[in-house]
Amino acid sequence: MSKLTPLIAIQASGINASLGHAHILKDIDLALPGGRWTSIVGPNGAGKSTLLKVLAHLLPHTGSITLLGQPLAKLPAKRRAQQMAWLGQNEVTGDDLTVWDVAMLGRLPHQAWLAAPSAADHAAVEQALRATQAWDWRGRTLGQLSGGERQRVLLARALAVQAQVLLMDEPLANLDPPHQADWLHMVRGLIAQGKTVVSVLHEISMALHADDMLIMAQGRITHQGACGDAATHRALEMVFEGRIAIHALAGQWVALPK
Ligand code: ADP
Ligand code: MG
Repeated sequence: MSKLTPLIAIQASGINASLGHAHILKDIDLALPGGRWTSIVGPNGAGKSTLLKVLAHLLPHTGSITLLGQPLAKLPAKRRAQQMAWLGQNEVTGDDLTVWDVAMLGRLPHQAWLAAPSAADHAAVEQALRATQAWDWRGRTLGQLSGGERQRVLLARALAVQAQVLLMDEPLANLDPPHQADWLHMVRGLIAQGKTVVSVLHEISMALHADDMLIMAQGRITHQGACGDAATHRALEMVFEGRIAIHALAGQWVALPK
């Protein structure tokens, strides 16, 4: 971990959030360690996406959140967007935008109003598109890509921000196994640079590759702990009602259906 990485990247206390008339997040307290990868898991409807949106300052809520030690609500929007990149679940994007333009959207927090992209913006976009192997399609529009290809472009947009903290909601959706493996390597690379990654993951075996795990059910956190801890494995099995079991396989933890 770099010296500049604070111990806690995101801290939240007393978080409550509603969608429509439904009270979704209930009294959430959490501390996400900096320079580590935390995966958020739990059954459908547990409130994972809602929590990630609240942490990204995209949804109204009560309670307080700090990002890298600063109160999130007081942080200017641009500064917040420089420090925290976001990849949403099932994001809708303009089919007419080119791959290059979508990745360049990730540079908006770094650009002056209506200013032309700088050399640094171009370099960041190229690096991000190459990292997700989307570089060859840079001239194509999103409408000309498959779901998985599109997902890699959205990932490139998030990478292009070069933020200290990355929040990703089901980033592996539509990705084939080789690109899921690439994503894992990419996250490991970000962590090695001292960045913080928080991802909601559907695939429990992928989620177990993370450093830490946050388990949710019914709008609450039921467990937070290291992915290698037996207590985390028991909490995982419990939240999925004993329908999965965690095993060690080839030096890695995997979730198998029971
Ligand atoms: P997860 O990502 O864990 O699957 P979500 O955070 O997307 O769960 O949703 C949490 C709960 O909020 C679900 O029960 C869902 O049905 C409900 N919900 C989502 N959007 C709305 C809405 N606009 N109004 C009311 N309830 C909603
Ligand atoms: Mg979700």
